Amino acid sequence: MGKSGYLLLTNLILNICFREKLLEWIKYTQSNTEWMKSASMASKFRVQGNEKFKKCDDAGSLAFYTKSVVNAPRDSEELSLALANRSAALFHLGAYQECLRDIALALQSGYPTSLHYKLYLRRSQCLSILNRHKEEVEALQSAQKCLELTRNMSLSKKSSIERDIELALSEASSQLSIGSIQSASDGSEVSCIPVLTYGENQRFAYASAALDLRYTEEQGRHVVANRDVKMGDTLFVERPYAFVVLPDQYRAHCHNCCASYTAPVPCWECTLALYCSEACRQESWDLYHQWECHGGLELLHSIGIAHLGLRVVLKSGSLPTLKDFFTKLQESGSQLQDTYGDKQYNYKAVYQLVSHLDDMKLEDLFQYTMTACMLTLYLCHYTDYFKVEENSLSPDELLQDRKSVVCLVGAMILRHIAQLVCNGHAITKLDRTFPENENKEVWTERQVRIATAIYPSASMMNHSCDPNIINSFYNQYLIVRACKDISKGEEVFNCYGPHFRHMGSQERQEALRSQYFFICTCRPCSLSGQQDFQERFSALLCPKCSGPLLEGSESSRHMTCSDCGHSASISGLIENAFQAHALFNEGVVALDTGDIKQALKKFEACWYLRQQCLYRSHKDLTTCVDQLAKCYSMLGDYGRSVECLLLILPAVEEQFGSNSIEVANELQKLSDVMICDISDHSLGSAAYLEKHKKATECVQRAKRIFELHYGIWNTGLQDILYKEGQLEQMVM
Ligand SMILES: [Zn+2]
Ligand SMILES: [Zn+2]
Ligand SMILES: [Zn+2]
Ligand SMILES: [Zn+2]
Repeated sequence: MGKSGYLLLTNLILNICFREKLLEWIKYTQSNTEWMKSASMASKFRVQGNEKFKKCDDAGSLAFYTKSVVNAPRDSEELSLALANRSAALFHLGAYQECLRDIALALQSGYPTSLHYKLYLRRSQCLSILNRHKEEVEALQSAQKCLELTRNMSLSKKSSIERDIELALSEASSQLSIGSIQSASDGSEVSCIPVLTYGENQRFAYASAALDLRYTEEQGRHVVANRDVKMGDTLFVERPYAFVVLPDQYRAHCHNCCASYTAPVPCWECTLALYCSEACRQESWDLYHQWECHGGLELLHSIGIAHLGLRVVLKSGSLPTLKDFFTKLQESGSQLQDTYGDKQYNYKAVYQLVSHLDDMKLEDLFQYTMTACMLTLYLCHYTDYFKVEENSLSPDELLQDRKSVVCLVGAMILRHIAQLVCNGHAITKLDRTFPENENKEVWTERQVRIATAIYPSASMMNHSCDPNIINSFYNQYLIVRACKDISKGEEVFNCYGPHFRHMGSQERQEALRSQYFFICTCRPCSLSGQQDFQERFSALLCPKCSGPLLEGSESSRHMTCSDCGHSASISGLIENAFQAHALFNEGVVALDTGDIKQALKKFEACWYLRQQCLYRSHKDLTTCVDQLAKCYSMLGDYGRSVECLLLILPAVEEQFGSNSIEVANELQKLSDVMICDISDHSLGSAAYLEKHKKATECVQRAKRIFELHYGIWNTGLQDILYKEGQLEQMVM
């Protein structure tokens, strides 16, 4: 690691005055007690949940019961009551697996014995629906036994419940004798994860056998295809070494595997870490959360990405494991390695990622070092991380010695924080948001950042502003697919963020230099005419050849066409553009008030004007035609609507690439309208068949693009598959 960073770190951490300042800050973050469990809060939320439940608001009651579960202290009766109530809401919502889990947890955490029969009955109902009749019989028998033990119940009520149980028992037994097929509900994580095309690589963990990891002085470590690779092939499927969920996503994603959940299981000790399952809770506790719990997360939230630096160290094993690791690392010295990565214990790959500590600006270096010191002090004073041996030293004794294990851990944290600046990878999810109380058909989708992760294998790819792969995520897994055909011997490039379709060349170069310390020489960066590709989509129209006016500034009143070199006066064009803009706004207002015919008129006028002054791929032309399509569709003129959407497609393809998700979304819209249009024609007529064929082609193309970008868990792909089925039925 950078010598300067290490020296700074040890000097700071061994300095008592500095330590005291940092400890004060840590103490301050620890004064926040939001993380603490509270029986009274839990009880308050449970009562609110009950009110919702009585009004049959199952989703509302679930939310409050979850709050109650999260706040209830470990092994308290309050916890068991919250879990039992939540299991009822889950049953109503059809979430039977979660319901069964909550019932088991409620029974474990001291649910009142006199009420046990209720939970066993609910369990039997779940099992019946899931066709698990053998267990159903067992649950009913338990319910019977518990009912016998129940006092304070009127005899009539008791005997009525007994009769119900008898009935259910005979029903379940008859189902059992039929031997009905047990439903193998396999929504498990593994079945959703795609398989590597060409099989696993034995020498490059998480990579396809079609890839080689190479090294040259100039390119550093980089990834090359060792055979011809086809678009859509899966090249990496990587589990991150570590990741941390962003604080604003805590209430939606498992702390340990990043899956989203309906009813989380909370940490035993705090209200912050929530999990999709008990298994995740246990694993998280064993591997890292025991040192992040008890208010630790309050501190960790205040330091952003550095949290992941600490997590990497914690996940790398206990102190003896780490000492062992460094001894082996020294022994192997500079031996050449012919394999990269180890799915069992991948710390070596992480440890050796570049950190650029020596290239960093001094203020950044200082900030990271201070954060690393603070995290080390936190581990010393607030956790038992360093107390692995019986007679281990006190924090103050440990902090006397430059060579002590404390300084080693501090240096590791610093190293990983620095690495994350260029190796940290955002885990994103596509989020659909529906407007409140409005047309549920009109939703918007956006990429939401869920977590920050570290993927040592995928990190080996170099950057290009025009990459040949595309990243997607399934929970914590990174899936890398080829988005172009890649020839044998060609390098495989990722895009670190600055993409030529979204950013100008100067902006890209600045971003790459400041964060990754290199000058990009990729194709769009070195090819003339490609550097400012995205400006074509906001260009004015050349009156002579209909090309884009790109050179010169708008303030000079004259601009030059980049296709024919003609220098055009732009005052007239700009005037038209303004007028068109006003018309567009009037159209939007008309649409809002429900006057669709008026809106249509305005958008048509706007479109006419914009065609006179804007380059054919201009974004504003696209949005205008999109509004026209919407108006026609609302008026029931699906044929016209289809025509409009077909006009947009080439511009979207040019701007975002023909296999982009933007094109897929456009095709999604187009296929909706096309399907409506088919139904306007009489079944089996030539027009009907022709339109059916076109719609099928459209759906097939969208499906291919969605499959390239996502897996079966994606809602866009599910929509397309549904339409595929719909179209098949329309010709039967
Ligand atoms: Zn999980
Ligand atoms: Zn906790
Ligand atoms: Zn570039
Ligand atoms: Zn021209």
